[in-house]
Amino acid sequence: MGEKLFKVSYDDFNRLVEKLLTEYRVIAPVAGNGKPFFAEISSPGEVFLKYKGHVLIPPKRFFFPEKETLFKYFLDGDKVEIHDELEKVKKSKNIILGLRPCDLKGILFLDKVFTKKYKDPYYLARRENTVIVALTCNEPEEYCFCVFTGSGPYFKEGADLLLTDLGDGFLVEVVSEKGSEIVKFNSDLFKKAGEDAESRRKSILRKVREEIERQRLPDFEKVHSVLREEFSNPVWETYGNICLSCGKCNFVCPTCHCFNVYDEPGLDLKTGERVRVWDSCHYLTFTKVASGEIFRKERPSRLKQRIYHKLLYTVDEFGVISCVGCGRCIEVCSAGIDIRKVVMDVTGGGR
Ligand code: SF4
Ligand code: SF4
Repeated sequence: MGEKLFKVSYDDFNRLVEKLLTEYRVIAPVAGNGKPFFAEISSPGEVFLKYKGHVLIPPKRFFFPEKETLFKYFLDGDKVEIHDELEKVKKSKNIILGLRPCDLKGILFLDKVFTKKYKDPYYLARRENTVIVALTCNEPEEYCFCVFTGSGPYFKEGADLLLTDLGDGFLVEVVSEKGSEIVKFNSDLFKKAGEDAESRRKSILRKVREEIERQRLPDFEKVHSVLREEFSNPVWETYGNICLSCGKCNFVCPTCHCFNVYDEPGLDLKTGERVRVWDSCHYLTFTKVASGEIFRKERPSRLKQRIYHKLLYTVDEFGVISCVGCGRCIEVCSAGIDIRKVVMDVTGGGR
């Protein structure tokens, strides 16, 4: 890949986005009313990268949308014609700018889920067709705890390019071949980075780390051994009884991936769509089976399931925890349930 560190001024970054727009569908954080959100952009002026912490709705929806048509069907007498949407998905060429290292770790986890036993062609096509330009944090939010989940503030696996905002432009680290191609084809915009740029990045990341470390949380990658013994801890009742079962924590989580599949028939009764939508383990019907039985009827059992899945079951299944410490579930919870506090209460602070 050759040279790995470059500097790009803000003006040249805008020129780069302009050029990328001619070739890709470009997705980037844009300033919302209060909170930024990821959206398809049509001009560099829309890109908003000076946000604190995370973007509330994670970029997973560009790989695994909240609602997607898998195929459409058309009935003609005894004949059924199927139009698979996969071909459309395969044709799209995307680039996502400005997602955080914790979100990279979230995507790497989804890769494991959607490629383990069953390879999900829709997810895989989007992963294949998407270039990822990540951006390290300059300032964490009160909810961030990536340092305790091994997801930040410096993490680059899964990115093609990794940016750091130095205040007078971006330091750009080339992480993959795809990233290297972008630099090669736009070489007039990228200057070789000096040592000072790298040491400025180190100092920014050190400050972010120190700020997050003030929280003194246990190592989330190791709490699974304690959780194995704490299935009957009264803490689950305490938090479960105040949970509203709204599922918001699932929908903002970059690693939650449960879905439901159903048919939406047209009123003509000759056409229809097979649709996939996100689901939530907090919903009463999540474990309902054909006989009508519901396996997790009580709210505490559902809340416990989510935390055990994040911090123990995926360790058993994939060898990694599936919490990346983004803090989004804490930010959205109307009941004030904070996964950091739950883990502290269950583990006694990391014993
Ligand atoms: S966001 Fe809070 S209240 Fe809603 S399901 Fe999650 S833990 Fe329960
Ligand atoms: S469980 Fe909460 S903190 Fe962990 S990755 Fe999901 S949303 Fe982020």
